[in-house]
Amino acid sequence: MAATDRGDLTRTAILALLGTVGPLSRSEIARELDVSPATVTQLTKELIGHGMLEELDLKPSRGGRPAQRLGLVGSAGRALGVKVTADHLVLVDVRLDGEVLGSWERPHDPAAPDALEHLADAVESVVREVPGVPPLLGVGVGVPGNVDDQAVGTVNAPTLGWQAMPVGERLRRRLHLPVLVENDVNALAAAERLYGRGRTHSDFLVLTIGRGVGAAIVADGRVYRGARGGAGEFGHLPVDPEGPPCGCGARGCLEAFVGSAGLLAAARAKRGLARADASDPLGAVAALGRAAAGGEQAAREVFAEAGAILGRAAAGLINVVDPEVVVVLGEGTADWPLWRAGFEPALRAQLYPGRRDIAVEVESWDDTSWAQGAAALVLATPFDSAGAAGEQGRLVRARLIGATP
Ligand SMILES: [Zn+2]
Repeated sequence: MAATDRGDLTRTAILALLGTVGPLSRSEIARELDVSPATVTQLTKELIGHGMLEELDLKPSRGGRPAQRLGLVGSAGRALGVKVTADHLVLVDVRLDGEVLGSWERPHDPAAPDALEHLADAVESVVREVPGVPPLLGVGVGVPGNVDDQAVGTVNAPTLGWQAMPVGERLRRRLHLPVLVENDVNALAAAERLYGRGRTHSDFLVLTIGRGVGAAIVADGRVYRGARGGAGEFGHLPVDPEGPPCGCGARGCLEAFVGSAGLLAAARAKRGLARADASDPLGAVAALGRAAAGGEQAAREVFAEAGAILGRAAAGLINVVDPEVVVVLGEGTADWPLWRAGFEPALRAQLYPGRRDIAVEVESWDDTSWAQGAAALVLATPFDSAGAAGEQGRLVRARLIGATP
């Protein structure tokens, strides 16, 4: 390997380290990466010159002189994140350090024959609105389905009616920008790697509840994608062969019980609850949550029973994967206190001895959280020494270095 290749790898490793654990001193970087202090001094000088790192406060030390800490420059780049849902798009403009600069919502019909052209129109219109400084590094797209490869971006998503849709190819042709496409829950896990639990944990699970149910498995610091990008389809864990039909074509999947449609069906089956509006399942679940919070016993039971089913399934996944921590995200977390009543006892009873005290953390959620995850696909690539973003990731890195003086 040529010395410059080694230098490139070490530069990427330095960015990856600071991007995932936060500011560190030069000697801490040298120790963490097991390279010489002289190499770290030289490479960080170059990165500061490129405008990607900056010198921060002095960290007090016991004896000796205080160490100057280095951190990423949050304004060195920005990315656009796009979340595709069954009826609209959410777009966000996010800085390298995770700060959200703007957000947009656009109507979208994924079943329309020209859905991809419409998607490209919507993204292109926002790209034109985004200022040129800091430079736009690329576009990340999160979809509720399977993606062959982030850098290719061919999508299979039954809930959108998409089969082998060339989302990445079409967007790249229209936008002339790097485009990364990923399953939306895996994209959330990428954001957790960059800004959340991934800073302190290398093995964790992300579970999402809402319209659907999903999971992302982060093992050894990487999102585990499986052979075809289909890993983590937790919503289709078989729960009961006699259960309700599922959108995937099977029967009795976890999602058929605890996704928003499953919750509403359970609510209808209980006496005294009105028929829910099928056109707005999330709104109907929110109304059910308000009734439960207001003390309606039947509504409380719906959430607690769903929580118990989810808890048992989650215990199975935790027993298989052995994560350090579980993070729960998604629209459904607004009602988490109601879910927890059933979730906690069911989960703890089913966990393998030695794992029964695993932490389950529920994070704040808003309408742009999915799209922020999609933007993190792009923003994570400069720090990704494993190269999960492939050729598109190389183009993102080139834009980051090339666009700074
Ligand atoms: Zn299913």
